[in-house]
Amino acid sequence: MKKTVQQLATWLNIDDQAFGDVFVTGVSIDTRTIEQGDLFIPFRGEQVNGHRFVEQAIAKGAAASLWLKDEPNPPADVPLIFVDDAEEALQQMARAYRNEHEATFIGITGSNGKTSTKDILASALAPFYKVQKTIGNFNNQLGLPITILRLDEDTKIAVLEMGMSGFGEIEFLTKLAQPHYAVITNIGEAHMQDLGSRAGIAKAKFEIVDGLVEGGKLFYDGDEPLLVERVAQATRQDISYISFGFDGEHAQTATNIQTVDNGSQFDANGVVSGEFFISVLGKHQVKNTMSTMLIAHELGLTEAQIRESLAQVVLTDMRMQLVETDKALFINDAYNAAPTSMNAAIEFMKTTTLRADKWLVLGDMLELGDDEQAFHEGLAEAIDATKIARVCLYGTRMKSLAAKLAPTFGDRLIYSEQAYEPIIDDVREHATAQSVILVKASRGMKLERVIEAFK
Ligand code: ATP
Ligand code: MG
Repeated sequence: MKKTVQQLATWLNIDDQAFGDVFVTGVSIDTRTIEQGDLFIPFRGEQVNGHRFVEQAIAKGAAASLWLKDEPNPPADVPLIFVDDAEEALQQMARAYRNEHEATFIGITGSNGKTSTKDILASALAPFYKVQKTIGNFNNQLGLPITILRLDEDTKIAVLEMGMSGFGEIEFLTKLAQPHYAVITNIGEAHMQDLGSRAGIAKAKFEIVDGLVEGGKLFYDGDEPLLVERVAQATRQDISYISFGFDGEHAQTATNIQTVDNGSQFDANGVVSGEFFISVLGKHQVKNTMSTMLIAHELGLTEAQIRESLAQVVLTDMRMQLVETDKALFINDAYNAAPTSMNAAIEFMKTTTLRADKWLVLGDMLELGDDEQAFHEGLAEAIDATKIARVCLYGTRMKSLAAKLAPTFGDRLIYSEQAYEPIIDDVREHATAQSVILVKASRGMKLERVIEAFK
């Protein structure tokens, strides 16, 4: 954005604003990453009071700052906007900016594949439009408004990731962002703890349609019966519901997926047809590509343009990222893990022809609730001892899976509850140039450290 302090104040219903002429070009809640021209937003937490950093923020280039009305000792000679509640003020400004912005807004939710889909979509559209997207995981009630307020005035496409851990959160985000297009990538098991069941998750994700503009379009995973059911019962008649997937009839589907040159080649069928290549690995990533094809087509790009731009797509780190080391070829998928994405990655490993000696280095999946043991044990079904050469498991929750696999894998199985070293040592001792090693766990496990040992 590029707004004066007075304009921001007006959005917040403040008439009498000092330093009204100062320009603000973004927002930040963190002085470590503050940029020139940002509006600093101090939060008053239990541990830290952000107001302590306001002067530092200004010294580092912030143009102005919010200040809570009941916080004592505001610094003089600093552009401050006085508010009752920092989070609400942030959201109110984002809402106002969204309402006047002319970009096409695209909201993405789902249990797995939000960030991948966001990156594929933004990267595929970038040759044709000025595109901005959610940075990192700025996908919640703070991250989304910050992302919106960071949009440049001339941005044409805003790709926004929407995350959640309970009911009502996606509804809030989508009503703020008012997307023209929405994507539900899939339904998995993440956040079962709070939502009770997969049906609960589907219901919560489906809230994304509540904020779609009139005439907007939802693109959803048509392979997921729970979403198909939601669509059948949907009450909004003014929007379109468009499915993608592998099984059955969909607006967009794909067949013949093959790994070539560190990417996937496939035949697209549907709204967009023909042979395509994208440098991402795994059937699930091809699925994430389908919504991009549909949206690109919707925006008016030709098949040839879509083919060309998909071929140059680059993904964020740690999502099925190939890392060649002197020791072996690693696939870094350590960004996150849940049962659905674990199974998708294991499936990829069983079928890949990248290397013959296939390893799984897997760590705990977090936030699964009461059934976590069943979810970890359940992976055993997919781990085929004739296709997978060696398995290294890490973390307390993986213990039960280790016990399950022990009879079939014998000394081809390593388990470490707490330390990375036994796994690193095992790779050092047994991996060769013929090895391809999938490394995957929930973010909190930091399992990429295994790969870092070989860089
Ligand atoms: P987060 O909730 O952590 O932000 P996310 O929804 O943004 O996750 P990604 O970061 O894109 O998801 O991917 C997370 C993991 O899920 C990765 O391991 C990825 O390989 C896997 N994954 C991505 N898309 C799918 C999909 N459609 N189905 C199953 N697994 C997927
Ligand atoms: Mg994400």
